[in-house]
Amino acid sequence: VPKVEIISVLNQSDVIHIGYNLIQDYIAQNIVSSINNVSNYIVITDSNLAPLYLENLISSLKHHLVHGQRLLVRTLACGEKSKCRQAKTDIEDYLLSESCTRDTCLVALGGGVVGDLVGYVASTFMRGIPYIQIPTTLLSMVDSSIGGKTAIDTPHGKNLIGTFWQPKRIYMDLSVLQTLPRREISNGMAEIIKTAAISNKHLFDELSRGKESIYAAISTTNCTDPDRQLLAKVICTTAKFKANVVTLDEREGGLRGLLNFGHSIGHALEAILSPLWLHGECVSIGMIMEARLACTLGHCTIEPIDKLIDCLKLYDLPTVLDIETSNKLELDQVMNIMKTDKKNKGAQKRIVLLSEIGNTVEKKASDVSNHEIENVLKP
Ligand code: NAD
Ligand code: ZN
Repeated sequence: VPKVEIISVLNQSDVIHIGYNLIQDYIAQNIVSSINNVSNYIVITDSNLAPLYLENLISSLKHHLVHGQRLLVRTLACGEKSKCRQAKTDIEDYLLSESCTRDTCLVALGGGVVGDLVGYVASTFMRGIPYIQIPTTLLSMVDSSIGGKTAIDTPHGKNLIGTFWQPKRIYMDLSVLQTLPRREISNGMAEIIKTAAISNKHLFDELSRGKESIYAAISTTNCTDPDRQLLAKVICTTAKFKANVVTLDEREGGLRGLLNFGHSIGHALEAILSPLWLHGECVSIGMIMEARLACTLGHCTIEPIDKLIDCLKLYDLPTVLDIETSNKLELDQVMNIMKTDKKNKGAQKRIVLLSEIGNTVEKKASDVSNHEIENVLKP
């Protein structure tokens, strides 16, 4: 039996399961024995993951299914473009054509794209059915699979249509990270470094010291047990922090806004630089700019900013905009995009202000004036 860490979310005691080699048997066994009254399991994945992990998951699920339970599979095209209205409709039509009703459980095997889309489908199909997350990217493990935010994109922007709908279970099999491209690892590391920066100096120091170990545990089979333990600890600590924030503030009334460190500016950069730049890369620059803002406002010294920059660099995240990119960004455009942030209250812009590594000025985003933001955006 593999060693598994379990974390509760919103007063449900055994939602998140974290360990190695869970996809071989643990996940299927746990799903079938702990989710009641399911007649149909629908596994939904993407075209990159299907050849890697689908067969394992399906054969173990088949092995554990009880009489009368059906197992169906859908594979989506990989990439953000699958997080759209059409993809939602296609899955719904498929479920209806297979006569699926409320006793259907969706299983999302993939990164944040598959997870967000499947969660959204689950939240409205027959007025809501259960779903399970099996996040396969580092970002989806520590961030998108936890908290129940589901969404699709429209031509007007990302994540504009969606719901809050909590997954019944979230299974993180750290072994699947072995096939994740290096740039996607950095993408997830940005969220981990963010969490450490706002909440946990000890975690931050471990990240700053443990790079070799963490990379070894992610991408090699011949890593040591301490390497594996460190990676598990880093992911567990980050996931636990988000799970706790979500438990205290499911609908983002205040505390959950804390997770937005680096994102107020990062999202605006992403709106302009995506798909060339990944989310975590924009958040990396966003964190530095927002930390500088806290510094100019007198809330923190230069030292934590330097530490943040060093740590981000360590995990191959960008810390400065190259000239070409910088020229692409117009101050007015960035400010304009920030104006329509879902998290604003009226015209007031809000930013999480760092006070030191592991701490923030408020346990939420703070009100900041336009003028002060413009100052840190200037090259
Ligand atoms: P993703 O799902 O597109 O995955 C990135 C790429 O990696 C894809 O090409 C995928 O096929 C591939 N991949 C995934 N796992 C792999 C593995 N183990 N081995 C090899 N390849 C693998 O992207 P993502 O970064 O996981 O998620 C991004 C999405 O998450 C965005 O749409 C974003 O809006 C959303 N998001 C949601 C929340 C939330 O709270 N719901 C939070 C953050 C981000
Ligand atoms: Zn993010």
